[in-house]
Amino acid sequence: MVKTEARRAIELRREINFNNHRYYVLDDPVISDPEYDRLLQELQELESEYPELLTADSPTQRVGGAPAEGFTQVQHSAPMLSLANVFNREDLENWLRRIKALVNGAKFDLVCELKIDGLAVNLTYENGVFSQGATRGDGRVGEDVTQNLRTIKTIPLSLLEGAPTRLEVRGEVYLPVPEFRRLNEEREEQGEPLYANPRNTGAGSVRQLDPKVTASRNMAVWIYSLGGVNAPVPSHWEALEWLGGLGFRTNPHNRLCRNIQEVIDYYDHWVEARHGLPYEADGVVIKVSPLALQARLGVAGREPRWAIAYKFPAEQAVTRLLEIGINVGRTGSLNPYAVLEPVVVSGATVRNASLHNEEDIHRKDIRVGDIVTIERAGDVIPHVLGPVLDQRPPGTSEFHMPSHCPECGTAIVKPEDEAMHRCPNASCPAQFFELLKHFVSKGATDIDGLGEQWCRIFIDQGLVSDLADFYSLRKDQLLELDRMGDKLATRIMANIEESKQKPLPRLLFALGIIHVGSEIAELLTQAYNSIDEISDATEEELAEIPGIGPKIAESIASYFQMEANQNVISKLRASGVKLEQEHRQVSAEGLPLAGQTFVVTGTLAGYSRSEAQSRIKDLGGKITSSVTKDTNYLVVGESPGSKLAAAERLGTEVLDEEKFVKFLANLQLVTSETEESSS
Ligand code: NAD
Repeated sequence: MVKTEARRAIELRREINFNNHRYYVLDDPVISDPEYDRLLQELQELESEYPELLTADSPTQRVGGAPAEGFTQVQHSAPMLSLANVFNREDLENWLRRIKALVNGAKFDLVCELKIDGLAVNLTYENGVFSQGATRGDGRVGEDVTQNLRTIKTIPLSLLEGAPTRLEVRGEVYLPVPEFRRLNEEREEQGEPLYANPRNTGAGSVRQLDPKVTASRNMAVWIYSLGGVNAPVPSHWEALEWLGGLGFRTNPHNRLCRNIQEVIDYYDHWVEARHGLPYEADGVVIKVSPLALQARLGVAGREPRWAIAYKFPAEQAVTRLLEIGINVGRTGSLNPYAVLEPVVVSGATVRNASLHNEEDIHRKDIRVGDIVTIERAGDVIPHVLGPVLDQRPPGTSEFHMPSHCPECGTAIVKPEDEAMHRCPNASCPAQFFELLKHFVSKGATDIDGLGEQWCRIFIDQGLVSDLADFYSLRKDQLLELDRMGDKLATRIMANIEESKQKPLPRLLFALGIIHVGSEIAELLTQAYNSIDEISDATEEELAEIPGIGPKIAESIASYFQMEANQNVISKLRASGVKLEQEHRQVSAEGLPLAGQTFVVTGTLAGYSRSEAQSRIKDLGGKITSSVTKDTNYLVVGESPGSKLAAAERLGTEVLDEEKFVKFLANLQLVTSETEESSS
């Protein structure tokens, strides 16, 4: 062995340990799973070629990460192990050959399952009642997350008939992809950085000290095996069937395979078909079914010999990096992105990829002109893995963030504790464009007829330079613009006029204050009756409102402290925009839907989901995210998913779009009649 191998092993160990901490403890990885797998594989290969390099604390010998502080620790009755990986058919066949030899040619079936990319949990039931739920932790000691897991509706709190006195099962808790998208839409609305992927967002949601956070995220579980207890059945396949019979959610795609060809067919099918699943799967797990053979095969290091994960291939491609573009976000963040020579990755043409921030670009040494490898992992936008160094053309240079905003020329700032560079100029045209788009959008002031292009034109023509300018626009100014006809101009003017009377929460949301999404705006208007009252509130007072944490309070207070923002508010007031409300939002009393709870699901043709929800809330109704016995109505659009089934089971009244429209029309009739008779 040469010194280089020893040095490389140390380097790999350090790098893997760093990434384990980011992934398992912080739920915030900085490299993709395929990148991580390659590092681990390289270390495993080095250690098997040079066994003297293997140390007891090597990450190849350990499972997961240390349990986080703040949770009670749980000692697992049987270790929760990892799985050995294979990445191609040849290695799969080698694995099968090895275990066949180990069981002296005994015949056995294999069970194929999807490898769900979530968080492993061990669930304990005593006398059929859910008594404890724990994470895997380091495999021996996990975290007690019982209270959080109780909020996951697919984890049964009590079992059906036939449950033994004590039962342990294992499964994967995950965040469904549609729910992940919903969370990110909300974050986008609030001007917050997006979550990277469902796996880590889901793991973070379970490992929260406040169970309410887990409850708000509609997580789910697939149970895939028994835990550290004896099974009343002879095989893993029958164990899955038995668990299903006790009320556990087992995956309908599990398959009993008689030979390797059936395993390969299963894998080949899911390589493509996984993209249609509402959850992420990163491979197929193949398990020897007879439990007696599993016991005979036992464990090697941190992995059982009787199971293997056949990972799906990473979706990668190489192409040239033409340029590094900078996008200025609504909150002024400078987001670098790669402009690529178009390339097809797993069926989609990719032209742009994310580059995170300057630090990341330097760490990977990515330069304009490089041939770069890009990867699409799961549901996230493609990202640049790194350059192909031996194809680097001459004359490239290191990337530097511009010192001044590419849009407005203001000097850029970089707060010490943030990775992002920011343009601090609140009236920067790029920021203002994003803000204006947000201001006129559906959930905000909803100025119909004003799409993105018109916002751009208004700014470019110097017609608006802050939000309030909008209300000084005149029809003759609009008519001077290319492609603006009389009809559209009239409509826009009428809609601008109408928007002055929008309910206070909508206006507050429209202002685009960082972290103030529609829900926070509702909370603020339940506590205060006007923009002035909110503006006068101190940071401490704001932080006392339930649901508003210190970060949000700070953001609101600093928004109102800025003179430029105060000027906009004064101008809005002078233009007749309603900045107050007569009644706090909290009293839905007297409104026709007061006390009624609604869930909206599926795609409606005539409304966006948030519009339908706002209509209901405006009429005093309450919106929740899942159907329970307390739900009065489920409003369903196209592809309603499991909520419809839940409503049918619970006997909840279901309103399809046609019924919903009639329902609202009737209510509005009733409201205007009462208003007329009382006036
Ligand atoms: P693993 O995920 O490879 O395999 C074991 C786990 O598979 C089990 O704990 C279980 O949770 C899960 N699993 C899902 N479906 C299953 C099924 N049907 N049957 C049995 N188990 C099933 O093991 P690991 O040690 O957690 O592996 C690490 C994983 O985490 C890899 O995918 C790796 O890429 C990723 N990782 C990534 C980073 C990073 O920085 N990106 C860091 C650490 C780990």
